[in-house]
Amino acid sequence: MKELREAIETLGRAAGTNVVKVDMFLNHRIETSLLFRMGEVLADYFRDDHPTQVLTVESSGIALALTTAHFLGDLPVVFAKKSPTVVQSDDVVQAPVYSFTHKCNNMIRVDKHYLPIHSNVLIVDDFLADGQAASGMISLCEQLDCKAVGVGIGIEKGFQPGGRLLREKGVKLKSLAVVEKIEDGKIFLAPDDD
Ligand code: 5GP
Repeated sequence: MKELREAIETLGRAAGTNVVKVDMFLNHRIETSLLFRMGEVLADYFRDDHPTQVLTVESSGIALALTTAHFLGDLPVVFAKKSPTVVQSDDVVQAPVYSFTHKCNNMIRVDKHYLPIHSNVLIVDDFLADGQAASGMISLCEQLDCKAVGVGIGIEKGFQPGGRLLREKGVKLKSLAVVEKIEDGKIFLAPDDD
């Protein structure tokens, strides 16, 4: 997506060889018009899959989930919460997720009342790296007998295995920008696929 590529190229920063920092427009300060445009593109891509809910994980996925849900007809957004401990309750389902950025295990959880059985769920997140967060959210959908209709991502890091693993599993995946590599502090983007 042209606008996102430009934002990464002008405002993105590399941290080491495998972290992309986009605090200037996505993760700390939010560039509103860009987030709406990103949501519009994801919504167009998944519209024919007829999602009834958008699911993300707190906190950095929420902005993109919200704009995507808006362009899908103001669908509800459910964000999975991160919990440091294992919560035992009949009202929640949970799944383990290893956090790439914080290097720790989290349980993510949702209250089952917010993802009704047989919902068509579009999963949205800001980044795709090893695929832990997306796989955890797919697991939440499976536990609740919901259908994960696809995964929409802002920035996929193509040098990490998450994208390949999801595609191999047959998951419908759309990433708005793909980082091929980080070298000498520079971020290299893959050509757009559209
Ligand atoms: P995964 O679960 O696919 O390994 O990682 C995705 C999650 O980790 C996203 O929810 C995102 O918040 C965070 N993440 C992974 N890589 C990066 C990165 O390079 N930069 C930032 N800002 N977040 C990342």
